[in-house]
Amino acid sequence: MKLITNGIKGTEDILPAQSYKWQFVEDIMRSQAKVYGFKEIRTPVFEHTELFNRSVGDTTDVVQKEMYTFETKGGESVTLRPEGTAGAARAVLEHGVYNDGYPIKAYYLTSCYRYEKPQKGRQREFHQFGMEVYGAPSYFADAEVICAAHSIFERLGVRGLSLEINSIGCAKCRAEYHKALREYFESKKDKLCDTCLSRLDRNPMRILDCKSPVCSEIAKEAPTVLDYICDECREHFQGVKGCLDAADIHYTVNPGIVRGLDYYTRTVFEFVSSDIGAQGTVCGGGRYDGLIEELGGQHTPSLGFGMGIERLLLLLEAQGIEIPAPPVCDIYVIGIGDKAKMKAFNIIEGVRNSSLIAEGDIVGRGIKAQMKYADKIKAKFSLVIGDTELEENKAKLRNMVNGSEKVVPLDDNFFNEFYAAYVENNNTSLLEQLELMK
Ligand code: ATP
Ligand code: MG
Repeated sequence: MKLITNGIKGTEDILPAQSYKWQFVEDIMRSQAKVYGFKEIRTPVFEHTELFNRSVGDTTDVVQKEMYTFETKGGESVTLRPEGTAGAARAVLEHGVYNDGYPIKAYYLTSCYRYEKPQKGRQREFHQFGMEVYGAPSYFADAEVICAAHSIFERLGVRGLSLEINSIGCAKCRAEYHKALREYFESKKDKLCDTCLSRLDRNPMRILDCKSPVCSEIAKEAPTVLDYICDECREHFQGVKGCLDAADIHYTVNPGIVRGLDYYTRTVFEFVSSDIGAQGTVCGGGRYDGLIEELGGQHTPSLGFGMGIERLLLLLEAQGIEIPAPPVCDIYVIGIGDKAKMKAFNIIEGVRNSSLIAEGDIVGRGIKAQMKYADKIKAKFSLVIGDTELEENKAKLRNMVNGSEKVVPLDDNFFNEFYAAYVENNNTSLLEQLELMK
């Protein structure tokens, strides 16, 4: 049969046999978010296009080239989110979350959409874990989010990531820097790409982020922002570095990092790996003190980061980091004949009620094929119920790992007997047992 269509270019399906890897990584992200005091925020996949034009910035690659924008049947322009910050900031403002007091600490795990050339580490639909803090001017906040991102890499056992940081100053000192940049790029005008030419007037810093080889070569010799930042920004940056030193987190100052989105101010940072090819930035973030104002709110110093989950998984694979395999079936129950099948069905449901994994035939396989299947899925135990077992109200519980057998009752005591064998077989700790019984 010919499929009516394929998945869209630049998207990936996460199939049942692979999803445990995603869940493992996501669980660590959620658990680190929890210990850092962040709560989840979920926002819609699409927003009014204006939100991204205003926040991400209409001179950025994301807005100029990469957004999935379309007109709805009602004639509104909407855009699939290219990143998570704008929607989160919009929601915080719209619902007056700031009335609960500052700081607001939120995290998201979400899909993003960018019309880019698909390649390794670059897709059109990808996923980000992100953390956002609103109402936190202190450099301890910058250190906190960098430490939080770092802690995720640590828990995953990722090695060799370099943390690169920079300060791109505030609106005040940026004016001076823009002037210097304009002067520099004016002199190279004839070599710049068309997009950068149009950025020269409005936002010359964007040229530093251009991916074209010619522009990026020119950008290498451009004036560096650190020579232009004001005393307050310099002090703030010192503070961030001091905290990272205190936390024993190694970093390098890279004046070339300006980040691809307009809303950044002061601290910007990236975690970069050399193990996954050209798309080596696994996490990028920084401070965006002007964003909330840009969206119509009060001045609210804020910051955050986005971490690409696909790139992180590529990194785990490249470094040979094993992700624990998902749990296998604890017991496979086979019923022979209609009555026994119903008994099996009841037993299976009973085991599931106690949070263990139980399965039975729903395909219509014969007994032999079911045995084979139980083997294939590596079930820890099996139980066969036939006429005799029904009559005697007991059956043989078979340990599929070592082949040993034990007769267990098929009444209310079944679970206790099975569980005793299960614990013995799995060497389950008391703590895990309590967890299971919850
Ligand atoms: P790049 O320079 O690689 O294009 P970016 O600066 O556009 O990255 P951000 O907007 O900072 O990326 O997004 C945060 C993170 O999301 C990136 O560091 C990366 O891990 C991930 N990411 C961004 N774009 C993509 C994409 N198209 N496919 C997969 N992951 C992506
Ligand atoms: Mg990009």
